[in-house]
Amino acid sequence: MSLDEYHKKRDFKKTPEPSGKGAAAMKSSSELIYVIQKHRATQLHYDFRLEWNGTLLSWAVPKGPSPDPAVKRLAMQVEDHPVEYANFEGVIPADEYGGGTVMVWDTGTWAPEVSDVDEALRKGDLKFALHGKKLQGSWALVRTRGFGSRKDRSWLLIKHRDQYAAERDITLDEPTSALSHRLLADIARDGGDVERAATGDPRPEKNASGSSAATALKRGGKRPRASR
Ligand code: MN
Repeated sequence: MSLDEYHKKRDFKKTPEPSGKGAAAMKSSSELIYVIQKHRATQLHYDFRLEWNGTLLSWAVPKGPSPDPAVKRLAMQVEDHPVEYANFEGVIPADEYGGGTVMVWDTGTWAPEVSDVDEALRKGDLKFALHGKKLQGSWALVRTRGFGSRKDRSWLLIKHRDQYAAERDITLDEPTSALSHRLLADIARDGGDVERAATGDPRPEKNASGSSAATALKRGGKRPRASR
């Protein structure tokens, strides 16, 4: 694992993201970090990250995770991120790589459900348990046949059948930060583009203060266009 690609893509004089230099010592627990960051960049996506070998393996999931085992979500593997990235919530300047608003949507720990994680990653079939605030239970990442130049980076994120499986759309039901309980638009108020961030929050209104978003949708609002 290497952070070379992570470093090459970013100018740490301009972005508030962690550089990851000398990070390993900061970890206090032996448990493996799991985090999902909701990222309103060019397109809305959810960055799914699992700590392994001192970095965060990372996949961009355009539609976010689904607790419904019948729903397989495309997950494009992206560059490894430093472990401290797990706590990053804030605004990446518009003209920097990944410019936009980042929310810690879920956080916790994970545990492999395979005996050899490196071998499972090579084979493209990783089974694991999530112990997050929003996501729980048994999941899998399975490499799939992709297309174009990214074809070896296409995976599917799939919920296994267990007591945590559910048919609900958790991205709509639980749209706020697991750290600060803020919506994307609230996070963007720290120097970001609030209106653009708000298009990633699940509500039809552009500028409402946000707390009733999920409730309004349950009352029969149709699913908003969350990206683009
Ligand atoms: Mn991202």
